[in-house]
Amino acid sequence: MSNLPGIGNIYKAQQSYFESGATRPYAFRKAQLQLLKKAIKKHEQEILDALYRDLRKHAVEAYGSEVGFMYEEINHALAHLKTWMEPEEVTSPLMYYPSNSRVYKEPLGLTLIIAPWNYPFQLLMGPLVGAICGGNCAVLKPSELAPFTAVVTEKLIKDTFDPKYITVLQGDGGVVIPEAMQYRFDHVFFTGSIPVGKKIMEMAVPHLTPVTLELGGKSPCLVDEKVNLKVAAKRIVWGKYWNAGQTCVAPDYVLVHKNVKAALVDELKAAITEFYGSDPAQSEDYGRIINTKRYETLCKYLASGKVVFGGATDEAQRYIGPTILEEVAWTDPVMQEEIFGPILPVIAYDDLPHAVQLIRQHPYPLALYVFTKSKRTEKILLEQVRFGGGCINNTLVHLANPELPFGGAGYSGMGNYHGIYGFETFTHRKGVMKTGTWLDVPVKYPPFKNKLKLLKMMAK
Ligand code: NAD
Repeated sequence: MSNLPGIGNIYKAQQSYFESGATRPYAFRKAQLQLLKKAIKKHEQEILDALYRDLRKHAVEAYGSEVGFMYEEINHALAHLKTWMEPEEVTSPLMYYPSNSRVYKEPLGLTLIIAPWNYPFQLLMGPLVGAICGGNCAVLKPSELAPFTAVVTEKLIKDTFDPKYITVLQGDGGVVIPEAMQYRFDHVFFTGSIPVGKKIMEMAVPHLTPVTLELGGKSPCLVDEKVNLKVAAKRIVWGKYWNAGQTCVAPDYVLVHKNVKAALVDELKAAITEFYGSDPAQSEDYGRIINTKRYETLCKYLASGKVVFGGATDEAQRYIGPTILEEVAWTDPVMQEEIFGPILPVIAYDDLPHAVQLIRQHPYPLALYVFTKSKRTEKILLEQVRFGGGCINNTLVHLANPELPFGGAGYSGMGNYHGIYGFETFTHRKGVMKTGTWLDVPVKYPPFKNKLKLLKMMAK
């Protein structure tokens, strides 16, 4: 079937391991979560080093968003897994008396998890926590564009888990994923771009494999007229230039009320200088662009509108300084595509209906951020814009709360995870009704004769 060395064997081994029932018990799942946490701790420094080599991520940033993030996710799962796994008792219609009904949370089986390069560790391990919690086997596909992290991840997984339970598939996604998906996985969890997401969905069709798609998009950040601009600017700058703007939920562009645009731009400039110094190229805390192809795409965006801050580039280092653009047109490339880099267009709006209309030009963003003191503004944006998730008076932090579902809507994806939502994504809710045999109400059996009246009384 497949030419990929090993995938057929891996698939068969995982299939029989899953069917043995070994992955089902609570004690097994709990032990695997503990093993995963221990393995991350053991390889912690190697992971941080790999993230530095792939993306020049500062250890604080890498720990916060990739390693420490995973400890939080695993701790949360360990604290709640037993409860999540318990079947839910629900009521049963009187007509089927004497019955009781339960919703069982069944493992799915074999899962394929595919990650991008920007948070190459967390975006592979986060869904894995969901897969383990759900009692599944997993094949993990790291991004080949973050090669150092991919190697450490494989080492960590190989040292910790039997490949018949969890294994890593390396290589060019365009080659190895179509090969792997010739086999029927019970769920494919994909994080990455919209075009590849569409291909994943197409490849899932022949087997009717359910997919979760965690995609991207242009996430707006709206700044209302009467807000603390200094705080807003710091939170926007933090969220935008973290990982040099290569964050799926980074504020893509700022929409600011026309009366405070100039003041906000001043505060944004001040915050950038406060965080990264007068020459961010010298800052230890500022990342680099993943590869030359992305660097070149981002450099082209600098030709849109007017650079009012930053704009410095260095190809040898794949460095693009924190940049602010003004006077961009909605038809400019920078406003047509997800930026996914350290370039921030700032656009003025007249009033709220105008802002909503502008945002709707890019429907279904992955995130929406609103800085406002007004409950009304908050309500209007939450109700009138369809988006994956977001924050009021902050950026990015919604994804760090394991109590919140994380995922897109419409073009930014389908499905979600983190905490219980990851568990639910990786389980099937199986509804089962159990009926006692000591009484067998004959109303449903033929001959029906005069039973319609009785039925009408019971089901009105
Ligand atoms: P990508 O779609 O190019 O690659 C993602 C994964 O798919 C990689 O593992 C890659 O090997 C694999 N792949 C590539 N081509 C493939 C093909 N033809 N068939 C099957 N698999 C293939 O994405 P990327 O460049 O790594 O990541 C950037 C994108 O990911 C951005 O759009 C960003 O917004 C999005 N993203 C979304 C989230 C989220 O949580 N929603 C998080 C991070 C990144």
